[in-house]
Amino acid sequence: MKIGRVSHQGRVRMVVVDEASSRVAFIGGSLSNHPNPVQAVIERRITASELDALKEGEASFSEVGFLAPISVPVRNIFAVGKNYTEHAAEFDKSGFNATSSGAAAVPAFPQIFTKATTSLAGPTDDIRFDPAHTASVDYEGEIGVVIGAECRNVAPADALGKVFGFIALNDVTARDLQKNHAQWFLGKSLDTFCPLGPWISTADESPVESLEVRTWVNGELRQTGVLTDLIFDVPTLIATLSRAMTLLPGDIIATGTPVGVGIGQTPPKFLQDGDLVRVAVSGLGELNNRVRTR
Ligand code: MG
Repeated sequence: MKIGRVSHQGRVRMVVVDEASSRVAFIGGSLSNHPNPVQAVIERRITASELDALKEGEASFSEVGFLAPISVPVRNIFAVGKNYTEHAAEFDKSGFNATSSGAAAVPAFPQIFTKATTSLAGPTDDIRFDPAHTASVDYEGEIGVVIGAECRNVAPADALGKVFGFIALNDVTARDLQKNHAQWFLGKSLDTFCPLGPWISTADESPVESLEVRTWVNGELRQTGVLTDLIFDVPTLIATLSRAMTLLPGDIIATGTPVGVGIGQTPPKFLQDGDLVRVAVSGLGELNNRVRTR
């Protein structure tokens, strides 16, 4: 199933998405006024047939505005750096990697950081920044994993069983802040720097091998990547994280971006006021976020 949140006639509604017909079904009952209904579905393991019983009316995509599916993540969004081989090389060549110091481009261990929950933005919200604060804002189209069950010390062979589903995500990054502060948290966490959505598709409907991410800026295709090309695959990421800490339902792991980010262009192309960034993932819909510096 595909689930999300929309605004419709002045109300925020949880929906089940039918991508083929470009329609949504509104979910009522006990979830109709829940502040974070998609998170509740994940935590309570509410099934597709249980949601079917709560459907009350429907609308076309053109009649609603998609919002971030999870309104408030349970904690910081996990993310992985340098997880596609060609992107690892372009990042180290760019001069923006404060920690590279001549080390091999492909890391020996997953490079994990987080983005603040307050960086969350919806699938059509503006990406905003002050050009006096950062002059090198970049896109990173990615596929996000949504954890479905509390888990600890998960073996790689069991890891996909802990996945609720997948989501399209843009790990927007201020390259100068990422470099100057060494730790990536600030440069990755500006308000609006984590557009995601428009819906979460469950793992049974969107298996790992079906997922391809593509990114365009102003209609120009910049990135193409398939999830099966990750250096550290989804089971390895879940095993690594859960070795250190308990994973919680609703946790999001941004799996890394493929080659083709702005710093990889010659010369580098950073996002400018008015640019339109589009990130599309097969079966997961697309993000269309306008860049605004005012
Ligand atoms: Mg990234």
